[in-house]
Amino acid sequence: MHKVTVIPGDGTGPELIQTMRKVVESTQVEIEWEEVEAGADVIEKYGTPLPESVLASIRKNKVAIKGPITTPVGSGFRSVNVLLRKELDLYACVRPAFTLKGVKTFYENIDLVVIRENTEDLYAGIERMVDKNTAESIKRITRRASTRIAKFAFEYAVRENREKITAVHKANIMKYSDGLFLECAREVATQYPQIKFEDRIVDNMCMQLVQKPELYDVLLCPNLYGDILSDLCAGLVGGLGVAPGANFGDECAVFEPVHGSAPKYAGKNKVNPTAIILSASLMLKHLGEEEAAKKIEKAVREIILEGKHVTYDLGGKAGTKEMAEAIAEKVASS
Ligand code: NAD
Repeated sequence: MHKVTVIPGDGTGPELIQTMRKVVESTQVEIEWEEVEAGADVIEKYGTPLPESVLASIRKNKVAIKGPITTPVGSGFRSVNVLLRKELDLYACVRPAFTLKGVKTFYENIDLVVIRENTEDLYAGIERMVDKNTAESIKRITRRASTRIAKFAFEYAVRENREKITAVHKANIMKYSDGLFLECAREVATQYPQIKFEDRIVDNMCMQLVQKPELYDVLLCPNLYGDILSDLCAGLVGGLGVAPGANFGDECAVFEPVHGSAPKYAGKNKVNPTAIILSASLMLKHLGEEEAAKKIEKAVREIILEGKHVTYDLGGKAGTKEMAEAIAEKVASS
């Protein structure tokens, strides 16, 4: 029996988490879900959007899966998602983007993975108003975090039989910060001669990904570029509705879709459950339940290819629940 912390999140999060649980249950893998709450709705009750009990639950169970959590823009509390990654030192964000046959896209054979440093860069929250007309945010990059994420990426590439890592940076302009990130990636690359290594400047990387995505394999990115490129890569394979993700530290792992809370669709049984279901498949793999993980991925691929029970973003009329139920039925009968 595995014990997993589950955070429903807000917006479309709770309905997505509910359907994901049904799909995981259809694999027969025994999971005890420990549900905890985070986000704007719990501030009144706990005085914070990320109560200590949430962190304690994840530290204890080591594995969590979460729905998206809304972050107020401009003012208000800082992102719970960013805080969670920081508090648990979930330094590596892994976001695969692969072609799903049946999804209308410009490309056919995409199999990319964005590996994003998760703890520093412009996300460290070192910001201030210099005066009322001037604001500044500090981009901090350290040797420790850059070397650690580069090692993670190369170990990932070896484990997953990947051929090439492309480090993404803007070291021509940010010679110190991105320069250090690139220097660390290059140093680590020398320890893995079996994996090809190259680097690209981030603006060129965007253009290349739009023109020739099939040339790329694993993208190693500092925090901000990783965030942006993973949405770009999601767009290449059919959008945020199909993009899963995972955050890893040395102790804990938290699985979550790339997308946000899509508040306009909250409670409407509308959004695509694929991203959260594929995140659950990554979670099962992490728990050592390879067979169940593969069954879920296969069922998702089949349901999307058949095209009968897919959500609006994939050109269908099914709701979140109906698409997830169709996937769960496939898993159960496989
Ligand atoms: P979003 O991902 O919620 O939505 C962007 C677009 O993608 C919208 O058009 C939305 O309808 C669509 N979309 C999102 N998920 C979908 C799905 N499963 N199926 C089909 N379409 C889907 O991004 P946003 O609007 O920029 O952000 C909304 C809120 O979510 C913000 O508060 C943001 O901070 C937060 N957010 C949270 C996380 C997280 O919890 N990890 C990640 C990103 C954004």
